[in-house]
This record gives sequence, structure tokens and C-alpha cells, in this order.
Amino acid sequence: MHEFRNASSVLIGTHLNPDGDALGSALAASLFLDGLGVANEVLCHHAPPKNMEFLPGISRVRQRPKEEKHDLALILDLESLERLGSTEPYFVECPRMVVIDHHLPHHSPGDLRLVDTSAAATAAILGRLLLASGEKITPEIATCLLTGIVTDTGSFRFRNTNSEALSLAASLLEVGGNINLISEEVFQKRPYSSVRLYGHMLDTMSMEANNQLCYSRIHFEDFQVTGATDEDTEGFVNELLSIDTVQIAFLAREAKPGKIRVSMRSRNNYDVAKVAQEFGGGGHRNAAGCTFEDSMEDAVAQLVPRLKACLASS
Ligand code: 5GP
Ligand code: MN
Repeated sequence: MHEFRNASSVLIGTHLNPDGDALGSALAASLFLDGLGVANEVLCHHAPPKNMEFLPGISRVRQRPKEEKHDLALILDLESLERLGSTEPYFVECPRMVVIDHHLPHHSPGDLRLVDTSAAATAAILGRLLLASGEKITPEIATCLLTGIVTDTGSFRFRNTNSEALSLAASLLEVGGNINLISEEVFQKRPYSSVRLYGHMLDTMSMEANNQLCYSRIHFEDFQVTGATDEDTEGFVNELLSIDTVQIAFLAREAKPGKIRVSMRSRNNYDVAKVAQEFGGGGHRNAAGCTFEDSMEDAVAQLVPRLKACLASS
């Protein structure tokens, strides 16, 4: 906390393709620093997805800083500086860097690291810190933190859901966090194009390894035909994993020609983060991702044998 109080200007950053935890944590930190009277800016390589536009303070997320100098970099929900994308140079220039994260450490950047892989969300680690600070936690800060916890636990359904996530959520509701708003904006609103693409994904899915491995491919033309975007595929892969026999699922999609983004999910001890790391990606044991600069067929042909081996080894 004294890192925050002593700073005169903080540059807050988070990962590419920001999700609820990334943006919720970054904006909570930003609003909290406002309360302390500490100047700050929030940067992210990508613009926030549409379903996060309800977050208090979302309009402050920029791709380039306004100010030239910051004395502290605060990096949230990220274990490798590469995932800062085009904003990385601005953070590397800061004389001091604090990292708050819950991913498996891979690169371990930062001068001060607050990393807890047992935390359900980065917003849980930050929430713990802010609630203990004695400073005022406004309803807006609470809604941001709650968004991180609710989205990273899949509304308290995923295996990372723990007592801390639930008790922090309760504390955040007490100070005015709006869980109804989050449920409605994040889980009960989908564009028509997204639902059409979802139908297509289910129609074309494949099963392997005795129905233990399920995957689907979304080609560039499928995005064009439906008018959906990559952010509209959020959550799709979890539906593949929900098939009762499936232990590992992945969704490969070509939202930009020649670039294949893969989201992997697994049950139990099947470690898809290890497989993602082999292909230059990363994540958590049960939720990971990576990118291929190959054709869809080449990417799938590389992944399937590795995931079958993962099924066989655990
Ligand atoms: P998603 O499939 O939802 O995009 O990502 C699942 C998890 O894997 C997230 O925690 C995310 O941080 C991690 N992840 C996804 N893609 C990458 C990647 O390319 N590199 C790294 N290091 N982690 C990733
Ligand atoms: Mn997270």
C-alpha cells in the first residue's frame, strides 16, 4: 500500500484481449488511486470488449499515455510483459514496477510482486489489499472488483471458486457493489451474431480420444458470414467442456486471416497451461491459450496430438 501512497503518478496496465478481471482490476486500482489523490492512467493494447462497457471508469482506458513520465508501473492480471502488447515500452520505462497477479509465474517481471496462484482472480488479491487499507471503497470500486471475481470464477462455478472469493464478494456487496448489473451486462446480453456463430461452432465440433477431447474451429469466413467478432466467442469453449465425457476442450478461431487464437479448457488435473506454454502461450492449469501464425489445419494438427498425450499422461 505504501507503494501506492508514495507514488506521484502511476501507469496501470493489463493484458491483451482484456477480460473482466483485467479491466475490473485495472479500473478498481485507478479509481482507488483517484481517492488517494494519486495521478494515474490506464493503458491496454486492445479496446475493452462491448460487454465491459458498463464498468465504472471504462472511458479512461487508453492505448497510449497522455503524460510522458510515471514513477510507478502497476501491472495487473499478467505474468509476461509481452502480454502488454503495444503498451509494453511505456511500462518498461517506469523506474519501479509492481505486479499483482494470479497466473502461474513464467517470466516473473517486476520489482515488487504480489502473486497468489490460489487466488480466484487478480481482483481478489487487489480487493483483499484495498479492503484492508482503511481507505474508502466506493460502490464503483466495489463493482469493478466484483466483476473480476464474478467473471474469473464463471459466476462462482469454476474450480477456482473458494471461500475467499465468496467472502470478498459479500464484503464488496456490503460497500455497494452492483452484482445485478454485472450479471445482466456480462451474462444475459449477447448479440444475435454471437448466438448464430455459437450454433455453427456446435454444428462443426469434433470429438477424439474416446470423446474425451472435444474441439471446434471457427474460420475467418464464419466470422464474416455471421458478422460476429472474436469477443463474441467468449465462453464458447466452456460449453464444449461441459459435455459429460469431455476432459479437455479447445476452440481455435481465425478472427484475423492467418492468425489462429486457441482457448483451451480442462477438467481435474489435466494441465493445459503446460501445453499452451509449449506453443508460446500460457495460462492456468484448467484454462489456457496460445496463438498460431499457421493455417487452421496446421494449428489443429499440432495441438491434437499434444492434448491426446496430456490426456494419456495424467
Ligand atoms: P482465454 O482462453 O479465455 O483467452 O484465456 C484463458 C487463460 O489463458 C487466461 O487466463 C489467459 O491469461 C491465458 N492465456 C490465453 N492466451 C494466452 C497467451 O497467448 N499467452 C499467455 N501467457 N496466456 C494466455
Ligand atoms: Mn484473471
